[in-house]
Amino acid sequence: MKKTTNISAACHCGNIRFELPWPEHELEIQVRKCGCSFCRKHGGVWTSHRDSLLVVTIKDSALVRKYRFGTKTADFHICSACGVVPFVLSEIDGAIYAGVNVNTFEDIGPHSLSTSSTDFDGEDTGSRLERRKRNWIPDVRIAASPR
Ligand SMILES: [Zn+2]
Repeated sequence: MKKTTNISAACHCGNIRFELPWPEHELEIQVRKCGCSFCRKHGGVWTSHRDSLLVVTIKDSALVRKYRFGTKTADFHICSACGVVPFVLSEIDGAIYAGVNVNTFEDIGPHSLSTSSTDFDGEDTGSRLERRKRNWIPDVRIAASPR
Protein backbone atom coordinates (compact mmCIF):
# COMPACT_ATOMS: atom_id res chain seq x y z
CA MET A 1 0.00 0.00 0.00
CA LYS A 2 1.09 3.60 -0.65
CA LYS A 3 2.15 5.94 2.15
CA THR A 4 -0.90 7.06 4.02
CA THR A 5 -2.03 9.34 6.81
CA ASN A 6 -4.30 7.70 9.30
CA ILE A 7 -7.57 9.49 10.02
CA SER A 8 -9.43 8.58 13.23
CA ALA A 9 -13.09 9.34 13.67
CA ALA A 10 -15.90 8.57 16.09
CA CYS A 11 -19.48 9.40 16.87
CA HIS A 12 -20.00 11.71 19.84
CA CYS A 13 -20.34 9.00 22.50
CA GLY A 14 -17.61 6.77 21.01
CA ASN A 15 -19.81 3.75 20.31
CA ILE A 16 -18.87 3.85 16.62
CA ARG A 17 -15.23 4.50 15.71
CA PHE A 18 -13.39 4.18 12.46
CA GLU A 19 -9.89 4.43 11.06
CA LEU A 20 -9.23 5.57 7.53
CA PRO A 21 -5.80 5.37 5.91
CA TRP A 22 -5.75 8.35 3.53
CA PRO A 23 -3.32 8.64 0.57
CA GLU A 24 -0.83 11.16 1.91
CA HIS A 25 -0.31 13.18 -1.25
CA GLU A 26 -3.98 14.08 -1.09
CA LEU A 27 -4.22 15.45 2.42
CA GLU A 28 -6.25 18.28 1.07
CA ILE A 29 -9.43 16.29 1.40
CA GLN A 30 -12.20 17.02 -1.05
CA VAL A 31 -15.42 17.05 0.92
CA ARG A 32 -18.97 17.28 -0.30
CA LYS A 33 -21.53 19.27 1.58
CA CYS A 34 -24.51 17.25 0.52
CA GLY A 35 -27.73 19.02 -0.37
CA CYS A 36 -30.03 16.01 -0.17
CA SER A 37 -32.99 16.24 2.16
CA PHE A 38 -31.44 13.96 4.81
CA CYS A 39 -28.03 15.67 4.88
CA ARG A 40 -29.58 19.14 5.00
CA LYS A 41 -31.32 18.13 8.21
CA HIS A 42 -28.33 16.59 10.00
CA GLY A 43 -25.55 18.70 8.42
CA GLY A 44 -23.83 15.82 6.62
CA VAL A 45 -20.48 16.60 4.96
CA TRP A 46 -18.99 13.58 3.21
CA THR A 47 -15.84 12.28 1.68
CA SER A 48 -14.49 9.04 0.25
CA HIS A 49 -11.42 7.82 -1.62
CA ARG A 50 -11.15 4.84 -3.91
CA ASP A 51 -7.62 4.09 -2.61
CA SER A 52 -8.68 4.11 1.01
CA LEU A 53 -9.97 1.49 3.40
CA LEU A 54 -12.60 1.87 6.12
CA VAL A 55 -12.01 0.01 9.38
CA VAL A 56 -14.98 0.33 11.73
CA THR A 57 -15.15 -0.73 15.38
CA ILE A 58 -18.56 -0.82 17.04
CA LYS A 59 -18.85 -1.28 20.81
CA ASP A 60 -22.55 -2.06 20.97
CA SER A 61 -24.10 -2.93 17.63
CA ALA A 62 -27.60 -2.87 19.18
CA LEU A 63 -27.21 0.91 19.35
CA VAL A 64 -26.50 1.26 15.63
CA ARG A 65 -29.50 2.11 13.50
CA LYS A 66 -29.56 1.98 9.72
CA TYR A 67 -31.59 4.48 7.76
CA ARG A 68 -32.55 4.32 4.08
CA PHE A 69 -34.52 6.75 1.99
CA GLY A 70 -34.98 7.82 -1.60
CA THR A 71 -33.55 5.15 -3.92
CA LYS A 72 -32.98 2.91 -0.84
CA THR A 73 -29.55 1.93 -2.13
CA ALA A 74 -27.54 3.25 0.82
CA ASP A 75 -27.62 2.56 4.55
CA PHE A 76 -26.79 5.56 6.70
CA HIS A 77 -25.34 4.22 9.97
CA ILE A 78 -26.62 6.23 12.92
CA CYS A 79 -25.54 5.91 16.54
CA SER A 80 -28.83 5.86 18.42
CA ALA A 81 -27.09 6.80 21.70
CA CYS A 82 -25.76 10.16 20.48
CA GLY A 83 -27.48 10.70 17.11
CA VAL A 84 -24.32 11.08 15.00
CA VAL A 85 -24.13 9.59 11.47
CA PRO A 86 -20.48 8.51 10.98
CA PHE A 87 -20.68 6.64 7.66
CA VAL A 88 -22.89 5.37 4.89
CA LEU A 89 -22.63 2.02 3.11
CA SER A 90 -23.94 0.95 -0.28
CA GLU A 91 -23.93 -2.61 -1.56
CA ILE A 92 -23.34 -2.67 -5.31
CA ASP A 93 -22.92 -5.90 -7.30
CA GLY A 94 -22.10 -7.81 -4.12
CA ALA A 95 -19.41 -5.39 -2.89
CA ILE A 96 -19.72 -2.84 -0.09
CA TYR A 97 -18.73 0.78 -0.72
CA ALA A 98 -18.53 3.51 1.92
CA GLY A 99 -18.63 7.24 2.37
CA VAL A 100 -17.66 8.92 5.65
CA ASN A 101 -18.94 11.99 7.48
CA VAL A 102 -15.97 14.38 7.89
CA ASN A 103 -17.67 16.02 10.89
CA THR A 104 -16.73 12.89 12.86
CA PHE A 105 -12.97 13.17 12.09
CA GLU A 106 -11.00 13.68 15.31
CA ASP A 107 -7.68 15.20 14.28
CA ILE A 108 -8.16 16.73 10.85
CA GLY A 109 -8.50 20.50 10.96
CA PRO A 110 -10.72 22.47 8.60
CA HIS A 111 -7.58 23.63 6.71
CA SER A 112 -7.25 20.13 5.27
CA LEU A 113 -10.77 20.17 3.93
CA SER A 114 -11.75 21.59 0.58
CA THR A 115 -15.51 21.91 0.53
CA SER A 116 -17.86 21.90 -2.40
CA SER A 117 -21.60 21.58 -2.47
CA THR A 118 -23.34 18.72 -4.21
CA ASP A 119 -26.88 17.69 -4.70
CA PHE A 120 -27.52 14.30 -6.21
CA ASP A 121 -31.27 14.35 -5.60
CA GLY A 122 -32.09 14.36 -9.34
CA GLU A 123 -29.66 11.60 -10.32
CA ASP A 124 -31.10 8.32 -11.57
CA THR A 125 -30.29 5.15 -9.63
CA GLY A 126 -28.01 3.61 -12.28
CA SER A 127 -25.68 6.60 -12.54
CA ARG A 128 -25.75 6.99 -8.77
CA LEU A 129 -24.45 3.45 -8.25
CA GLU A 130 -21.82 3.86 -11.00
CA ARG A 131 -20.59 7.06 -9.34
CA ARG A 132 -20.31 5.31 -5.98
CA LYS A 133 -18.32 2.45 -7.53
CA ARG A 134 -15.87 5.01 -8.95
CA ASN A 135 -15.52 7.23 -5.91
CA TRP A 136 -16.50 5.50 -2.69
CA ILE A 137 -14.20 3.53 -0.39
CA PRO A 138 -14.18 0.01 -1.86
CA ASP A 139 -12.90 -1.89 1.18
CA VAL A 140 -14.98 -1.91 4.37
CA ARG A 141 -14.20 -3.96 7.49
CA ILE A 142 -16.53 -3.83 10.47
CA ALA A 143 -15.78 -5.34 13.86
CA ALA A 144 -18.77 -5.29 16.21
CA SER A 145 -18.65 -6.61 19.74
CA PRO A 146 -21.55 -8.94 20.51
CA ARG A 147 -23.74 -7.88 23.42
ZN1 LIG B 1 -22.65 7.61 19.56
